[in-house]
Amino acid sequence: MKDKIEPPALLREFAGFFTRAGFSVYMVGGAVRDYFRGQPAEDWDVATDAMPGQVIRLFRRVIPTGIAHGTVTVLFKGRKIECTTFRTETGYSDSRHPDHVQFGRVPVEDDLSRRDFTMNAIAVRLPDGAVVDPFGGREAIRSRRISAVGNPLDRFSEDGLRPLRCVRFAAQTGFTVDGETLAAIPPCLSATAAVSQERIRDELQKMLAAPRPSDAFRLMEQTGLLSLILPELAACRGVLQLGFHRDDVLDHLFLSCDLAAPGDPEVRLAALLHDTGKPFCREWNPEKGRFSFYRHEEKSAELAQSILTRLRFPRKTVEFVAHLVKNHMFRYTPDWSDAAVRRFLVRVGAENIPALFRLRAADFASTSAKTEEEARALVREQPETAGLARRISQEMQAHAVLSLKDLCVNGRDLQAEGIPAGPLMGKVMQSLFSAVLEDPRRNRKESLLEMAKTVYMRLSEK
Ligand code: ATP
Ligand code: MG
Repeated sequence: MKDKIEPPALLREFAGFFTRAGFSVYMVGGAVRDYFRGQPAEDWDVATDAMPGQVIRLFRRVIPTGIAHGTVTVLFKGRKIECTTFRTETGYSDSRHPDHVQFGRVPVEDDLSRRDFTMNAIAVRLPDGAVVDPFGGREAIRSRRISAVGNPLDRFSEDGLRPLRCVRFAAQTGFTVDGETLAAIPPCLSATAAVSQERIRDELQKMLAAPRPSDAFRLMEQTGLLSLILPELAACRGVLQLGFHRDDVLDHLFLSCDLAAPGDPEVRLAALLHDTGKPFCREWNPEKGRFSFYRHEEKSAELAQSILTRLRFPRKTVEFVAHLVKNHMFRYTPDWSDAAVRRFLVRVGAENIPALFRLRAADFASTSAKTEEEARALVREQPETAGLARRISQEMQAHAVLSLKDLCVNGRDLQAEGIPAGPLMGKVMQSLFSAVLEDPRRNRKESLLEMAKTVYMRLSEK
């Protein structure tokens, strides 16, 4: 195995600022791992014996990202480089923070020994590229293995985030988690229970961006992490959908999530959660000879909302994902009237239609494709919603009235006809809108004002 590599020229130049001042500096973390995997690095982390204050004095542009943890971010020739001061850690009595941290002049090996997995515990000295690999990280990468540094039980009980990082790395890299490391997750679940929802969410988001998120979720299920973090999903195991789906609800959710695109995080989330209400709504339907799940989309949307709120996803994401889940059960047939197409469009919102159809394609492919290849084609071509998509674009091109703003009368016009502003006026506007949605030819000022007066009189008599 090579004991020296050629570091990127920019990092060698960057390192000169440290070495000229008498400090040592090493490339560490994900970028080194990715170098030995033959993957381009996304961001660079370096470790140094310079204290954060000293790093700040070496460069012109430095952001104090995490001084308390010994980390600052240097802006160097258009790149952001995270610099962390060497540290050794001892004692983790709360499973989140070390009791004692020593910064600065410690050997690089000590700094590596506090890192989580052997593949993440390799350092490359700058500028010469000498490799420091005391835990066999390169060998682990070569054999595609994820192993904890040292005793996995200790490492996971010190920091309950590590088990989640472990399954996330498995999905990102396709590597196998070493048996002893995997077996250490269940006894350390109480440490993971102490991790903040925000940090858990960040890990889940990285899992969702992996090529096949279910690689992580299956390991979570196997180790008890799923019951701890997403019990609503764990409850879908064994819920059979006889006659309709080949798998149980959980396998169907995993596959739907995998089939949505990696760059489509909200649709992947919606796919993962879209049937979580099924265990609550399952009834045997003797006529059809199978289970039915009446209104499960509403229960699932409710669960999606509470799960994502609990995990501190941004409000916009929570609302959007819940909206997609709630609307995933439409059954289009070519005999839908134009008005039915417009009502659907208004209910879902034109801007949400493409995402809803991507969710629906993943759901449909997951239940109906026989092979992975067929599933991918169904997701790409969306044949199931193609007819409805065409009808929708016809309506959009015809400039259909899709919101109150598109009506050719407004509140001021109604006031001029003697209808006072207030809740009744709102109801009148809604009736006008429904009438126009039904038949766009009704969107003419005079006849709408007539209709408004009639509706207002009827409503005010009640
Ligand atoms: P990515 O950036 O893709 O998440 P990474 O390996 O670079 O992967 P970072 O979170 O950027 O991960 O952390 C950089 C390095 O710091 C890791 O490679 C690892 O050596 C160490 N590290 C990060 N988090 C932990 C942790 N919770 N426990 C121990 N070591 C950690
Ligand atoms: Mg990183």
